[in-house]
Amino acid sequence: MIASVLPTYSRAPLTFTSGSGSWLTEADGRRFLDLGAGIAVNALGHANPALVEALTTQANALWHVSNLYNIPAQQKLADLLVEHTFADTAFFTNSGTEACELAVKMARKYWYDKGQPDRTEIITFTGSFHGRSSAGIAAAGSEKMTKGFGPLLPGFTHLEFGDHDALHAAVSDKIAAILVEPVQGEGGIRPLPDACLKGLRDLCDAHGILMILDEVQCGMGRTGKLFAHEWAGITPDIMMVAKGIGGGFPLGAVLATENAASGMTAGTHGSTYGGNPLACAVGARVMEIVATDAFLAEVNRKSGLLRQKLEGLIASYPDIFEGVRGAGLMLGLKCKALNSDLVKAGYDAGVLTVPAADNVVRLLPPLNISDDDIAQAATRLDAAAAQLRADLAAA
Ligand code: PLP
Repeated sequence: MIASVLPTYSRAPLTFTSGSGSWLTEADGRRFLDLGAGIAVNALGHANPALVEALTTQANALWHVSNLYNIPAQQKLADLLVEHTFADTAFFTNSGTEACELAVKMARKYWYDKGQPDRTEIITFTGSFHGRSSAGIAAAGSEKMTKGFGPLLPGFTHLEFGDHDALHAAVSDKIAAILVEPVQGEGGIRPLPDACLKGLRDLCDAHGILMILDEVQCGMGRTGKLFAHEWAGITPDIMMVAKGIGGGFPLGAVLATENAASGMTAGTHGSTYGGNPLACAVGARVMEIVATDAFLAEVNRKSGLLRQKLEGLIASYPDIFEGVRGAGLMLGLKCKALNSDLVKAGYDAGVLTVPAADNVVRLLPPLNISDDDIAQAATRLDAAAAQLRADLAAA
């Protein structure tokens, strides 16, 4: 008999009932150090007092009004995003997937309005992840995501991540946009080198192609800059944001330049819940905290601390780990042992991590994780690796 919750996830046998900072408490009372943060969502930890205050204050005043009316919290968040990024304008969604939908629509409408209605093709890359909608799975293109779900939304050209020759060969007057994650998350914490991101920007500029960045996972301070593309010194035309921006409350956004957004006039797009007062009140508070030099400097310092400890771990367990990669607090442990076995061993050691493609274990802790908790992370990951080594020896 099918489970009453549609069984599209194979869930770990864990039930968390409360959280505080970087810690979650299981129904049986055990405490787990959360190095997954809901897959890069709880950017400021669990039950952050500032976010609880922002949410409850708004909840006591007004939960929902339609986008037919002005929403002050939405206006405030949009102004903060415009102030701190390349963007001139923002549309709010409830998820990264919805942000992908709009990014694709925006790019195509741009060229339609420019008198090039056939310029609809979007270049994407292997290993990418852009959500589970029809546009999202067609954009990623992998068999794992698309098999059985045809007919797929047409208009995506999939190139090998890092294949420069294929990229240059694929450019034509049919290409509307290039869509890329500056650091692939689900794909296994695979950063696009700064030089490649710059090269992509130059290619887009040379051919008038729109650059869409998917910063759903790598954005909002995750890599130690407010947005990951800032490391490369470039700006996109359109950017997808979600996850961390809501600190755990569902919120996403598409940010764009005035030029890229020029086709999106009244009536061309909408959302019942997107930009609702609750989500935007929390999002604005997250922005006020994260988008400061002092906060981002701390993310970078903590990244150094965690990375140093991970290098020690890798040196102690060369049979389990191959290396560490990523930026800021978006780190991937490339494993020699099976990544899912390490994640499971972590459960016994009271530490939560997230598997990714390419046999990687992701570490995406709250951005405000304390130094003590980073030390705990090292201790608990060491215990997990020791357990896994013992299990493998006994097998
Ligand atoms: N894009 C990227 C890079 C993601 O990592 C994700 C989610 O993991 C998405 C898009 C989809 O976001 P959501 O699950 O909020 O719809």
